[in-house]
Amino acid sequence: MQLMDGSFVAQQIKEELAHEVLTRKSKGMKIPHLAAVLVGEDGASLTYVSSKVKSCEQIGFGSTLIQLPESVSQSQLIEEIEKLNKNQDIDGYIIQLPLPAHINEKAVLMHVSPDKDVDGFHPECIGKMALGMDTFLPATPAGIIELIKRYQIETAGKNCVVVGRSHIVGMPISLLMQRNAYPGNATVTTLHSKSSNIKEVCAQADILIVAIGKPGYVTADMVKEGAVVIDVGITRVADDAKKSGFRIAGDVDFHSVAHKCSWITPVPGGVGPMTIASLLINTMKSVQLKEK
Ligand code: NAP
Repeated sequence: MQLMDGSFVAQQIKEELAHEVLTRKSKGMKIPHLAAVLVGEDGASLTYVSSKVKSCEQIGFGSTLIQLPESVSQSQLIEEIEKLNKNQDIDGYIIQLPLPAHINEKAVLMHVSPDKDVDGFHPECIGKMALGMDTFLPATPAGIIELIKRYQIETAGKNCVVVGRSHIVGMPISLLMQRNAYPGNATVTTLHSKSSNIKEVCAQADILIVAIGKPGYVTADMVKEGAVVIDVGITRVADDAKKSGFRIAGDVDFHSVAHKCSWITPVPGGVGPMTIASLLINTMKSVQLKEK
């Protein structure tokens, strides 16, 4: 078994981007600027947003954190988004999800300009991705693709099973793994909560990608000998042994599964850091697209 070390690869990507920032500075070119909008005070969301802002600072990108109260109305939030769309200095921005229950997430995300949608959630980005056109790929699936690429995992003709069909992970990674490209050209099966024979189908996978948010769901009997297993799950699980009172758990029971795999991502330190790296790549791409 070998680890697909997302923390290591994400650090490599950050160093590459930091180098690019220095080159741009020396040529007097625009420095990429990423903004993040956080509504409310959810601890996990604040942690995720803070690490995105910190990553920008580490590599020399500009960063702006816009914090709005939990009580903000949908129209006030949309006003903020329209300001970001018009702000020439902001190259890309993200709206940290989930939003409070009184806000219609889909309606809000429709206002994000596809030119600045570095999360790649806008229907225009998803449509272009489905058609194989150049666009911002959704950050988590893009991170998985980059990880597969950097570890030179063979995907053509492989049987890839994706568990989960969310619009931000399962659906886009299923599309990307079956496109005519590398990584891609896999034969993809997408499973969800209404699927039958989940164990049997997973056990046929050469590449198993799991994004359901159910800690330890994938056990050794669901994994083929020599499979590549990519665990997207991030769930906070109560743990008295930790100072924080919780630990982060993936969807795969790493300890029982790892010995059967050729490659496996750990949680934490697998797909999570790659998601942030993809956001940074997309922000750099946004600047470069404007220069074309
Ligand atoms: P989501 O929107 O809640 O979607 C979960 C998907 O899993 C749904 O398609 C659901 O099926 C399916 N599902 C749930 N229980 C299942 C079961 N027992 N068997 C088969 N399918 C099942 O979740 P998400 O946003 O994709 O996130 C999934 C996990 O990835 C979460 O732990 C999240 O925190 C994590 N995540 C991590 C990153 C990262 O950077 N590493 C980024 C995003 C998300 P239905 O469609 O039928 O309901």
